[in-house]
Amino acid sequence: MAEFLGNTKRTDYCGTVTEAKIGETVTVMGWVAKQRDLGSIIFIDLRDRSGIVQIALDETSDKEVFAKAAAARSEYVLAVTGTVRERSSKNPNIPTGNIEIFATAIKTLGESKTPPFEITDNCNAGDEIKLKYRYLDLRRPELMNNILFRHKVAKVTRDYFDENGFIEIETPMMIKSTPEGARDYLVPSRVHPGSFYALPQSPQLYKQLSMVAGFDRYMQIARCFRDEDLRADRQPEFTQIDLEMSFVDMEDVLSIGEGFMKRVYKDCLGVDIQLPLPRLTYTEAMERFGSDKPDVRYGMEIIDISEEVKNSEFVVFKSALQGGGTVRAIKAEDCVKTLTRKEIDKLTEYVKSCGAKGLAWIRMTEEGVASSFAKFMTEEEMAAILAKTEAKTGDVVMILADTNKGHVLSQLGSLRIETANKLGIEKKGLGLLWITEFPFFEYNEETGNWDAMHHPFTSPLDECLDYLETDKANVRAKAYDLVLGGIELSSGSIRITNPDLQKRMFNLLGFSDEEAYEKFGFLTDAFQYGAPPHGGMGIGLDRLCMQLLGADSLRDVIAFPKNQAAVELMTMAPATVEQKALDDLHIKIDVKE
Ligand code: ASP
Repeated sequence: MAEFLGNTKRTDYCGTVTEAKIGETVTVMGWVAKQRDLGSIIFIDLRDRSGIVQIALDETSDKEVFAKAAAARSEYVLAVTGTVRERSSKNPNIPTGNIEIFATAIKTLGESKTPPFEITDNCNAGDEIKLKYRYLDLRRPELMNNILFRHKVAKVTRDYFDENGFIEIETPMMIKSTPEGARDYLVPSRVHPGSFYALPQSPQLYKQLSMVAGFDRYMQIARCFRDEDLRADRQPEFTQIDLEMSFVDMEDVLSIGEGFMKRVYKDCLGVDIQLPLPRLTYTEAMERFGSDKPDVRYGMEIIDISEEVKNSEFVVFKSALQGGGTVRAIKAEDCVKTLTRKEIDKLTEYVKSCGAKGLAWIRMTEEGVASSFAKFMTEEEMAAILAKTEAKTGDVVMILADTNKGHVLSQLGSLRIETANKLGIEKKGLGLLWITEFPFFEYNEETGNWDAMHHPFTSPLDECLDYLETDKANVRAKAYDLVLGGIELSSGSIRITNPDLQKRMFNLLGFSDEEAYEKFGFLTDAFQYGAPPHGGMGIGLDRLCMQLLGADSLRDVIAFPKNQAAVELMTMAPATVEQKALDDLHIKIDVKE
């Protein structure tokens, strides 16, 4: 037998052996994706991160080599040396589909038990088992390619920011808490019993302090940690392309941010994006789409019909308007057959779950106008609604009324998305845009406090400085978000650098001077030693990759993600620890069953 040389080196990745190599001797190493033993002929699909190549053996093969191929099972790791030749039955679906490697030596580098699920992209094993054996799931070409793609995005990111004068600075993982609106993950200190570090919710304060230090332009592909109840598009630890710039205003930051998006789309997908990106103010976004992260890839915008129904005797509309509220509609086009009464009942339940009291509707059927509230309206009023919404046969108009305008807008915003999903509405373009002029404060209905909508270090708009104390609801900030396809991709702001203003904002957020100094004194102190004007943003790398790839979940772009319950199922973290470790930390566990 042609001896497989112990020190033979791999010459090629499986997926790169193409016609150009016909006649050459190559050595590939990888996993058995499939073995087909046809008696006198054996085919093996050998897989590595680059793809798959077919290995062939027949009756002319060396007996021992043939026996090794016959013994190979799924997921065995093999080294194969052989001659590249043209294949008789070609596979146009893969780059190596025209060739095969006629094996002259095979070495089994590792054996495999039968995997707990089939390692193919269309395998429908459950999520739990796939996460438990994540290293096997990652062998699936689709998942493997996602992670390779993510590497590329990270590389393009570093290149772009480097070319634009940014330097990468690592900031600490064990810090004093930085408020970004979520709960902190805490790390107990052994040497300072009873004291805790927090894992950073973002590097916010360090990047600002690096501006005070004079680094001028900072970036970091930074890990952030937020202990939140997990929703479909959240992970407790996630990655942010974090940046900060000195001597800039908002336009400079937006220009760098959108330049980055253009570069990433071009280099990673070959897609050209037109700049500048469209912008909406927060108020416009709420009025038109009922969301601060509007999916602008389809219409169904919110229409104000308060004027049209202002004299209506319909109690729902009347009481909303008399209470200083509003009546608003969305119109779904050409869907009256799909949005049957039954389906509208489901949508009604849905908006109720969002806090609405009910849903009024009009269905423009072939037979005429059918409506949940026509009997309370005059013909003129009904005609006015149809005229304002430009409803035509086939359309469905859905209406919400409430004394609280904000509630109506956000509930209609949710209904708009739910309806679009139900109808499978066609989405055009990328839906990439800036939202600007966010409110500084956000009223917390639970606590009755005014919290910072972005974070407390965000600068209010200059024109709002006169009424910070007297009209919190109308204070807008130099804060901006980047939205991509209805997802908040990035947030940022121009920061406060005036120590007095920073103190004033802390007070307005409910911190006494002492509390503010205790928590953030290092920052306000730093601002007394020459702080350059600065601003920046954080772009979600996981979300960006997910959108670029059209993946369904963040989990598909993170190598080792956690599940919905924040558990990493492969290693089973979090886990209990030995009593000794707790004793060292002076920690006593008191878990109530
Ligand atoms: N630290 C902010 C965030 O994580 C981003 C920023 O303001 O730069 O949302």
